[in-house]
Amino acid sequence: MFYKSTRSTENQGITASMAIKQGLSNDGGLFMPNEIPTLTKDEILSLTDKGYAERAAYVLSKFLNDYTYEELLEDCQNAYCEASFPGGAAPIRKINGDIYSLELWHGPTCAFKDMALQIMPRLLSRALVKNGEKRTALILVATSGDTGKAALEGYKDIDGIKIAVYYPQNGVSRVQKLQMATQTGSNVSVYAIKGNFDDAQTGVKKIFSDADMKKQLDENGVFLSSANSINWGRLAPQIAYYVSAYCDLINNGTIAYGEKIDVCVPTGNFGNIFAAYIAKLMGLPIEKFICASNKNNVLTDFLSSGTYDRNRTFHATISPSMDILISSNLERLLYLTCGAEKTAEYMRQMNENGKYTLSDTDFAKIKAEFEGFYTDENDTKKAIQTVFDEYGYLMDTHTAVGYNALMQYKTKRTTVLASTASPYKFACDVFEAIAGKPAKDELSALEELSEMTKTEIPTPLCNIGERAVRFSAEIEKDDMKASVIEFSRS
Ligand SMILES: *Cc1c(COP(=O)(O)O)cnc(C)c1O
Repeated sequence: MFYKSTRSTENQGITASMAIKQGLSNDGGLFMPNEIPTLTKDEILSLTDKGYAERAAYVLSKFLNDYTYEELLEDCQNAYCEASFPGGAAPIRKINGDIYSLELWHGPTCAFKDMALQIMPRLLSRALVKNGEKRTALILVATSGDTGKAALEGYKDIDGIKIAVYYPQNGVSRVQKLQMATQTGSNVSVYAIKGNFDDAQTGVKKIFSDADMKKQLDENGVFLSSANSINWGRLAPQIAYYVSAYCDLINNGTIAYGEKIDVCVPTGNFGNIFAAYIAKLMGLPIEKFICASNKNNVLTDFLSSGTYDRNRTFHATISPSMDILISSNLERLLYLTCGAEKTAEYMRQMNENGKYTLSDTDFAKIKAEFEGFYTDENDTKKAIQTVFDEYGYLMDTHTAVGYNALMQYKTKRTTVLASTASPYKFACDVFEAIAGKPAKDELSALEELSEMTKTEIPTPLCNIGERAVRFSAEIEKDDMKASVIEFSRS
């Protein structure tokens, strides 16, 4: 197996570890394996009596074939250990009827990004060794909140890697700011930018393309790398939890092997739902993929019309991690549907006009697998309230968007709903949805929610206001470059 760009028609490629080290292909495309490995009935059944780390290592070993199974198992055991994921990494919980919540938020930052960002830094660290890289990788992240914290937790104290995170001074919530400012680890640095998220992102992009900077860093024995969600090292670990959920549904007697399930995913960049689709291509019995969006419903329109059009108003919603108008990982689905040549052409149109329209045959293939629905703010809150009142299950705002899509789809099969964040991560909005009145403030919302619902605040969010602040630097956006140079020397 080798990895090649979604835009390249060449019949050769690079190893898995190189793809992880490099992140994005030079032609702008995303890396994909040249074949999709299979999971047989016997293999799936043999995973039913394994723990999460073993299931994940087994699935990863199918894709990362220049890593040994022992290496992957060691990394998975460390990534998904009890200390990081108390009570298990990706448990399923019945909500009601045929709907099961796949809880992906038991990790250190209480959102599903931990499932990939706890393991990917370990894969990158090994990739440096495997490819004879002697320099230190410096990960640069511009964040609007969630990704920054998850990346910091994943990369802290990993050999051969440093990480610097930039967030907009006034553009993140108080909880998010505290989460990052109190970050532990000897190889981390966090900066607040006097500007908005775009300023932070533009600053990071400029640094990546600055040749002079590259030279200076090289002299310090450092090269730049990214923790972006288009890296295959973030996508591959997400395939495993769908396999794991299927095993758990067999174990608890809900289904017998071979029975088809539906999967519903609250979607932004199309990474999480695409991972589920790969699981199906490997042989996992899945019928339909329900793609759930908030008011930024560019994917809903795409799945009903065959036209992807990002030229539209951007809405800031209470499910902010899905406030995205360019779903980067959709490119991987196009590649599997119609090949590299047409994908390159669709992406060229996207860059030029911000839109493209699929041919009828390409659209029909995607339509056969995916259904899209979207939910507005009001219905998101209503879903949180109804599901809590009627079934005693507490959902966050993103999961609620998924639940609402399922109500519109009217499923008839056993369904796995990807639950992407702890309700406590968005405590203010969840509290308001259930109580019908606003919380006193952001920090007290955690206690108020706990009190009202008789559920516990997850440990990573407990006493967040009382931890020592390590990073209080507020810098001008023009000083980002200097901060990187300084950090690279430390
Ligand atoms: C990132 C994120 C999503 C969207 O996931 P994609 O892989 O980008 O589709 C959904 N919910 C939460 C809570 C997230 O953090």
